[in-house]
Amino acid sequence: MAVVELLRGFFVTAKHMLKRPVTTQYPEQKRPTAPRFHGRHVLNRYQDGLEKCIGCELCAWACPADAIYVQGADNTPEARFSPGERFAIDYQINYLRCIFCGLCIEACPTRALTMSNEYELADDSRETLIFTKEQLLSSLPSGATLPPHTDEEIAARGINYYGGFAGTPVLTSADRAEREDESSHIQHH
Ligand code: SF4
Ligand code: SF4
Repeated sequence: MAVVELLRGFFVTAKHMLKRPVTTQYPEQKRPTAPRFHGRHVLNRYQDGLEKCIGCELCAWACPADAIYVQGADNTPEARFSPGERFAIDYQINYLRCIFCGLCIEACPTRALTMSNEYELADDSRETLIFTKEQLLSSLPSGATLPPHTDEEIAARGINYYGGFAGTPVLTSADRAEREDESSHIQHH
């Protein structure tokens, strides 16, 4: 009886020796990720180089791990970083905290924040795992220039940054001055 049990045990071992291994020899071999894998974040740009982030902080408020820091600042007609009123003057993601849940990208109203398939984020320094805005920003599209841009330059491109209503206006300094002039005129009457 003991011999039968012994042979049964050998049979199980032999059967598994003939199977193909399920392990991957990482890092020499890398398995492709799923198309919608949640990896390292990216801060996206429009085709002219303007940043999609409007510094609203919704991503930071949505984050359950308190991993995102955003500091907003005002765009001006002479120095515009995003098409919105505000842009992120500082943006950081702390990968010591992030659990890659994706709630931040769900919360982002402009699709400024998305996640890439990059997963090799291990490091032996705490500081380097806090990614800066410069690290997170996508590279410039070909032909684009780094912000800040002026309102005149942007208006000349005629880009509808927000989709939807085709008349989303980007005011030039002259338009803005004209509106201010009109409103002060109305107030005096
Ligand atoms: S993926 Fe989740 S944990 Fe990571 S920054 Fe976004 S909301 Fe926070
Ligand atoms: S990444 Fe999106 S949600 Fe976060 S501050 Fe920028 S625009 Fe707002």
